[in-house]
Amino acid sequence: MRLMKGARYVGRFAPSPTGPLHAGSLAAALGSWLDARAAGGRWLVRIEDVDGARCVAGMDAVILDQLARCGLVPDAAPWHQSTRDAAYAAALESLRRRGLAYDCGCSRRQIDDALAAAGRTHERGDELVYPGTCRSGLGARVARAVRLLTEREGRHVVVDWTDRRLGPRHQDVTAEVGDFVLRRADGAWAYQLAVVVDDVAQGVTDVVRGEDLADNTPRQILLQRDLGVPTPRYLHLPLVRGADGFKLGKGNGAHAPRLDTPQDVVAALRAAACTLGLPLIEASAPGAWLAAALPAWAGMMRDLSRSGSP
Ligand code: GLU
Repeated sequence: MRLMKGARYVGRFAPSPTGPLHAGSLAAALGSWLDARAAGGRWLVRIEDVDGARCVAGMDAVILDQLARCGLVPDAAPWHQSTRDAAYAAALESLRRRGLAYDCGCSRRQIDDALAAAGRTHERGDELVYPGTCRSGLGARVARAVRLLTEREGRHVVVDWTDRRLGPRHQDVTAEVGDFVLRRADGAWAYQLAVVVDDVAQGVTDVVRGEDLADNTPRQILLQRDLGVPTPRYLHLPLVRGADGFKLGKGNGAHAPRLDTPQDVVAALRAAACTLGLPLIEASAPGAWLAAALPAWAGMMRDLSRSGSP
């Protein structure tokens, strides 16, 4: 794996504009900002609006305004993934040329049936481990999605990687995920491809994001290897849990924090800091609060790297 070493730190926050920032996404934004600033690096924002059906018009501006109210201002104009078709198409083409991407004509129903016929019932939440039906050609089927081939010369693809907080991790991508989608049947680019292409295009050295995305990282590392681009460092942050113990999201009570007054902003930053495991920071104005949070974050990161990961 070509790890990114020596390059000047570039971090990013990559929200999907499906709703305003809530406590969980604000914690991810704050964590990525603190990590970048504590390292003397640049901090970018990327609007991940590839999934047109889930995005809400104007929500990018709402999110950028929420960030600005919190004092989290990117160092360059935010990128929008909806303008990046040509870059994703070029990456897909390069994978195809090397026989690593193939057309798939299966409907969800056909995948279900093929898995049942093979006695395979294991599912990953809503995602299915694709049984590989179209690997050897479409037959009479019409091309719908494009998938990445995850079996190479009969061998499983295994990714070992180390998260700065979660420690060493291991995934058999072939068995646990299968040939995953790069471009969906509706023509939308899959998150996995878009995120990898953009992280490298923006020179991102450090991905800092919520722990719910850690399971996606091996797929992204595999794509980085296949595209011959460097792998950034990864830090997956603790999640805000709802009353039901699950990750806070729109389904279980996540709402946008009030950010109308400096007191509101400090309260929202304090809540985010608490999620991230930072000690209490006393400052009562947002700018002073952020300035005081930087050495606290740097200290927490030093402890993390000294103690090794759990
Ligand atoms: N857009 C993704 C989300 O909002 C985050 C992607 C990432 O940070 O890699 O969940």
